[in-house]
Formats: sequence, structure tokens, C-alpha cells
Amino acid sequence: MRKWTLVAAVAALSVAALAALPAVVAAQPKPTPTPDHHERKSDEVFRKQELSRGVWVLYGKGGNIGFLVGSDAVLVVDSEFKELVPGILSQIKSVSDKPIKYLVNTHHHGDHTGGNEGFRPFAVILAHENVRKRMLLSPQTILKEYPAYLEEAKKDGKAEDIQFLEDAIAWAKKVKVEEIAAPVVTYDSDVRVHVGDETISVWHTAPAHTDGDSVILFEKAKVLHMGDLFFHRVIPFIDVSSGGSAKGYLTAIDSVIARVPPDVKIIPGHGEATDLAGLKEFRQYVADVLDAARKARAAGGTKEQFLASAGLPKYKDYEGYADRLKQNLGAAWDDAAP
Ligand SMILES: [Zn+2]
Repeated sequence: MRKWTLVAAVAALSVAALAALPAVVAAQPKPTPTPDHHERKSDEVFRKQELSRGVWVLYGKGGNIGFLVGSDAVLVVDSEFKELVPGILSQIKSVSDKPIKYLVNTHHHGDHTGGNEGFRPFAVILAHENVRKRMLLSPQTILKEYPAYLEEAKKDGKAEDIQFLEDAIAWAKKVKVEEIAAPVVTYDSDVRVHVGDETISVWHTAPAHTDGDSVILFEKAKVLHMGDLFFHRVIPFIDVSSGGSAKGYLTAIDSVIARVPPDVKIIPGHGEATDLAGLKEFRQYVADVLDAARKARAAGGTKEQFLASAGLPKYKDYEGYADRLKQNLGAAWDDAAP
């Protein structure tokens, strides 16, 4: 498991560079590895579906996008990557000519905020205060942490990693803080946005994926966007270095389940849109991960021994099982410390 994670800095980097990333990026639908990949129009990566009452899910290369077509404006949740913005906008424009006035970020990761720059000229960007903080701090974070990872990558001769890390360091050296398209309206616990007759309730949950997670509920449409608090049939990435925790996932999911209508439709950060049953299946996965760590601790032995032998074959068909299960189990082990 590589140690570095997807910070907001990747907003400046290409999807090709990101394909070299582990963790979060490995959770995404992979770009087709054909030589003509870069010739494809960004439109072609998109697939969209209206879930209910003007609320759509738009699948692409990064975290899933949700958007509401209201009577007077469009509100968008998450922005994928910078180079996908023209395609995102043309997909939205194919179903509405209303102005895009709001963009909500579920958290700071670059596969959810990378396109912010493209929305900034016309949309108010909202998110939890920690999303703004982490995005603005990302050059410092990169300059502090990445040189060591770069050395490691050079030792291992991993060309793609080297390129990614070098690009990120170069970006961090030259970017000015005001160039980072961070949210301009932030909140500590919650905020409501009113678009036409729809009320969009946005609230911050217990730290789970990161310490800046929010979920977005379209009240009348009964559609919930959960960002990376929910990976549907995909093994999640728990960003412990950004304040996330395995135990926090359970707390956050339970608080969300208690607050949403039973017939809600759910857009996960990664994977296909689903319903409450799909979310409960993911909750069970998290509970099983925590349980495995707790039992292993009770049985004695070290974290390394646990990780060397642990597995949850029930979930082997989930995307990312080979890449991220041990990362999840390691986070759960740390959480289970007495
Ligand atoms: Zn994420």
C-alpha cells in the first residue's frame, strides 16, 4: 500500500497522471488503456440517469456527480477533474438551459474537486470548512510529504509514480493560494440551499472518509448524495491522514440512515446509484472490517500478522478488494486500540 493519498492538489494534474494513483483513484472506473484514449472527447466518458424529480446522477472518471435541475437554476454536487468540466457542462446543458449557480463539494479529494476551477466563474462553491482548509493547505502538504515518497518511487523504479509525484511537487512549488478553487461558502455543521421548490439539505457527518465529509439530501426528490461516505460494491479508501476512520464510517452511516426517508435513492461517491438496502450492505461491510480487527486484537498478535493473514472473502467481488482491503483492515486495527 502506497502511503500517499489524493490531495486536492491533483486538481491541477491530468487524468492520465491520476491513473497512476492508488487508493481513491483505484476506486474509479478506469480509463480504457488504449493509445487513443486521449483523443476521445470528454463527453464519451459520461453516462447519466434521472433518479427522481429533476435530480440526476452523472457517472464519469472521478467521484460520481449529482445535479438538480430546478425551475430557476442548477445545483451540482462534486466536479470530478478539471479536464472533464467541458463534458460535464455539456451533459448538464443537454437537459437544462438554466444557469448553474451552485456547486457543493462532498469532501476535498481531487477526484471530487478537481473541476472546481471550471465552475468557479459562474457557481458559488460550498463545502464544509475543512474542505477549504485542506485544499488551501495542499501545496504545503505536498512539499512536506511527497519528496520522501518520490525517493521511494525512484528506488522502486516506478515510472508512473515518479511522474505523478514530480508533477505534484512542481505544481505545489508554483501555485498561488488564490489560484486554488476552494469553496467560498463554508459551514461547520449544515446549510440549506433553496432552488425553485426544492430544498437541498447539506450536513457534515462524523469524520469517516475524511474530516470534511458532507452528505446532500434533495428533500422533495428524496435523493441523497453521500460522496465517499459510501462506496457501492467498491472497497472504500479510508483517508486516515485526512482525519478519516473506520469506526467513523459506521457512526456516520448510522446517523445518515436515521435521518433519511426509507424510500430514498442514493448516489454513492463511487459505484452505481442504489437505495437504502445498498447502503446497508456497505454498512455491513464496514461492520465486518471492524469486527475482524477487534477479534484479531482480542486473539493477540501484531498488526502485521493480522494484515498478512486477514481477508474477507465475502467481499472479494467488490472492486478494489486486492488494492484496498488491507488498508481498511489496518485503519480498523488502529481504531480498535484499547
Ligand atoms: Zn474521496
